[in-house]
Formats: sequence, C-alpha cells, structure tokens
Amino acid sequence: MTSLRLYNSLTNKLEKFEPIDPTNVRMYACGPTVYSSPHIGNARPLVVFDVLFRLLKQLYGNVTYVRNLTDVDDKINRRAYERNISIKELTDEVIAEFHKSTDRLNVLSPTYEPRATFHIKEMLDIINLLIKNEYAYVVEGHVLFRVKKLSNYGQLSKRSVEDMIPGSRVEVAPYKEDPLDFVLWKPSKENEPSWDSPFGKGRPGWHIECSAMSSKYLGRQFDIHAGGQDLIFPHHENEIAQNFGAFGCLMANYWVHNGLLLVDNQKMSKSLGNIISLDEILQKYDGEIIRYVLLSTHYQKTLNWTDQIVNQAKSALDRLYGALSSATKISEDVDFESKVIAALCNNLNTSLALQQLLEITDQIYKTDNQTEKNRLCSILKKEASILGLLFRTNWFQREAKLSEDEIRKLLDERQQAKLAKDFQKADEVRNYLLENRIKIEDTKNGPVWKVISD
Ligand SMILES: [Zn+2]
Repeated sequence: MTSLRLYNSLTNKLEKFEPIDPTNVRMYACGPTVYSSPHIGNARPLVVFDVLFRLLKQLYGNVTYVRNLTDVDDKINRRAYERNISIKELTDEVIAEFHKSTDRLNVLSPTYEPRATFHIKEMLDIINLLIKNEYAYVVEGHVLFRVKKLSNYGQLSKRSVEDMIPGSRVEVAPYKEDPLDFVLWKPSKENEPSWDSPFGKGRPGWHIECSAMSSKYLGRQFDIHAGGQDLIFPHHENEIAQNFGAFGCLMANYWVHNGLLLVDNQKMSKSLGNIISLDEILQKYDGEIIRYVLLSTHYQKTLNWTDQIVNQAKSALDRLYGALSSATKISEDVDFESKVIAALCNNLNTSLALQQLLEITDQIYKTDNQTEKNRLCSILKKEASILGLLFRTNWFQREAKLSEDEIRKLLDERQQAKLAKDFQKADEVRNYLLENRIKIEDTKNGPVWKVISD
C-alpha cells in the first residue's frame, strides 16, 4: 500500500501518517457557523478535506469523519433578530441551503454531522471535568479556562504566551484571572438562547463544542484534526487545551490546515465588498467547476480566485468530459497503478493529481484504437472519482437542450453527409447543433463537441 504523508502543523513537519487504529481512521473538521451561506474561502476546506476523506477510504476502508455545524453563535442571534425569525428557523434554513451547496460541490456527507445545540450536555460534562482538574474556574456566571496552568499552551500556533497578551486597547473583562483565559460558558441575556447549567442559565463558548463533539464520536484522542489555517489560533489551540485539561491527552495526532483564499489578490472583506458567497458562485457556475478550482492549487498554498482560473477549470472539465465521451464502454474493473493516489499520498498534491487526469486525457485523444480508448477512459473515470470529479453523465447537457444520444445521432448524420459529399446537409446539421449551443470541432481523431455555456 502506498503510504500517506501529511504536513502536520503541530510539528511543522511532513510526516508519515500512522493511524491509531488502521481499521477505523478518525478525522474531524470544523464545520460552518450557520448564519448565512459560507463564502468561497470556507468552501475550500469542505472540498479539500472531502478529498482527504475519499483518499483515506481508498487506503484504509473504514473512516469515521465528523464535521460539525455551529448553530449557537452571536452572529446567528443577530441575524435571526434582523430577519425577525426564530433561531431554529434561521439555522434550519441555512443548514438546508448548505447541504444543497455541498451536494452541488459533490462533497460526500461526513459520517456524523453533529449540531452544537444537540450536545450541550456533553459540553457541560467536559466543563465540569475541567473545573475538577482546576483547568477552569467559575466567576459571575462565566466559566473560564485557566490558560497559564497549561505549560505548553501555544504549541500549535507556535506563539509564546507573552505574544498573546491582548494589546492595551482591548478591554479585559474584570472577572478574568488572566487576560488570556477564554470562555467555556457564559450567561445569556434575555432573548438569547440559553440552557440550564450548574453555573446558571447560559450558553457555551465556541471552542468547547468541538472538544465535546469530537470526543463523543471519535474518542478523546483521534488521528486527524483538519480546518482552515485561520482557525489555528485561538480556536484549535483552545481545543487542544480543553482536551488536555479534561482528558490528559493530545486531542489529535495530525493537524492539517488549508491556506487562505484571496479574490484577485485581495483578502475578502466587507469593506472591500469582494466577499463571494458559495450560494452566489454556484448560481453562476456549475459546482464541479468550483470544485475543480478549489483543488487546482495545493491546499497549503494561498489560492488566488480569479475569473481566469474559473475559466481554466471549465475548459479542463470540457476536455476531460470530451475525452470520456469518446468511450463506447466504461469498465469498472480496470487494472492500473493509480497516479492520482500516488500524488495525493504526497501531502494531498491535488494539483499534480489533476495534471495526471489531463495526461490520461491526452493519451485518449491521441489513440485511434477504440479498445485502448475505452481502457484509458475507464482509468480516467476511476482516477477522477478519487478527486470527486467526472461523476456525471450529462456534463455537456447541463445547459443544452439536446440529449447526448441526440447529439451523437446528429454527429453521425453529419459524418455520413460529409462522406457522401453532401456538404449542404453537413452544414445544416452543424448549424442546427450550434443553435442548440453545441459546437463541433473537427480534430484529426474525428469530431468532438462541446456546449457553449457559462
Ligand atoms: Zn472546531
């Protein structure tokens, strides 16, 4: 078996992946806060870690993947208030929309997708353990994590405690023992969601939910914790602190983080007005195109979103599907050594993996032998499936009025007309196809067609 190597943000090293239990590989990724559609920067980890999930399944068979939904948050309260609907209505609506988007991106459902508000009891259990172990204290209805008690706090973000002390402009809550202490539980104001607790009516802080849900579904120590680079500090640092304080062990052995996403070389921000939501981009482009773009840059690098890379992704998919459409038979059991798996095993090199697909495609266009074409197409389809690509049968019809069979028939008619030197008829067919947004290109290997769209 090819062995997987992953860059571990905890050790800052490329490491050989060795699961605690190879018969059940366990992975956690922080999911969205469900107050509105995520932006495309947040869509990146969804797709990247979906590929990791698919790869782990290929390598180990059984994988438990947990991706949570944060459905308690001040942003949610605010949005529900603005829209004059209940928090439950808002979060249910956003979650339903989110699932439509992940489907369109061909992101597999994780094994568990727990919601924070369904795990308040588990959070309180950990908070109680932290208090018992003196890693947390109760003050004025708050429960706070005592950061200084943990000697290696900052191990993930590689920050020293001195660097973290909030600047003088930040007002430190007077009830804190130390400015660094973070909230595990806080009192709720009226109109804010609240749950009963030994510390009074209140609600959890953000970080504690991930410790609660991961330990419930994956155990106190598991293999991979994934997320965006922007979550390293303080969120992931605090998750590590909580698990260590409550359970006395390291939460996860491998910490995998994806890089930032820029739009036209700029950070997305409200003030620049350049935030692209996932909903919005999926209205404009097919989900598979967006998926391709998100995989086109290595996950650790900054991805610069431009119209150009979206168009490149679309052309690449046209080419891949075009090659695939030349097969007369796709076989499931085709024997080959997977170059896509090899690329992904090298720290999830998705850009190289995509390159491998295009290389197979070149070979498909080059050969005149139909048996060989079929064999290569079968390989292409299988290789692409590991990346969650080329999963549909109707790529060229996504906006065309004609079915694939109709197009093929017309192409045959045109070829026969040409052979019979009936060029008028051949042109008529060509024009008819054009009216239906199908463009024919004659190559030395015969005609190929594509839809003029997007
Ligand atoms: Zn988290």
